[in-house]
Amino acid sequence: MAVERTLSIIKPDATARNITGKINTFFEDAGLKIVAQRRVRLTREQAEGFYAVHKERAFFDELCEYMCSGPAVVQVLEGESAIAKNREIMGATNPANADEGTIRKALGQNVQENSVHGSDSPENAAIEISYFFSTCEVVG
Ligand code: ADP
Ligand code: MG
Repeated sequence: MAVERTLSIIKPDATARNITGKINTFFEDAGLKIVAQRRVRLTREQAEGFYAVHKERAFFDELCEYMCSGPAVVQVLEGESAIAKNREIMGATNPANADEGTIRKALGQNVQENSVHGSDSPENAAIEISYFFSTCEVVG
């Protein structure tokens, strides 16, 4: 087990419902520490760059449109096995398939508006953290 960092995004459907604090409580209750956090309004270009791995997917345009539709909160979470642990706390992509007790089960609205993003591998966590934060902005 190693201490890791992962990139999390609280998505526009969640900021619209004023539940960013409620979502942060899931992370903190599970032992993840929020070591960087910033509220942003993504530009279309930033959203397309962030989700570039999905650019061939049918939902890419709609996803980028949604991610720019309102404020988001970008954050770095730190803890033991933070990458896998955050994916567990988030639950399945589609809230309808997510386990009880997960963020997406409790708060997600549908497969697109599913309240949170979390990095899926150490490689992507490093890329995604550096997409939004410089080294000195992450304070563990
Ligand atoms: P995850 O966020 O669980 O890692 P993916 O990386 O597969 O899921 O997809 C990225 C995001 O794209 C999802 O969180 C969701 O907002 C959106 N998305 C995924 N699948 C669909 C779909 N079938 N229709 C619309 N949006 C989707
Ligand atoms: Mg993903």
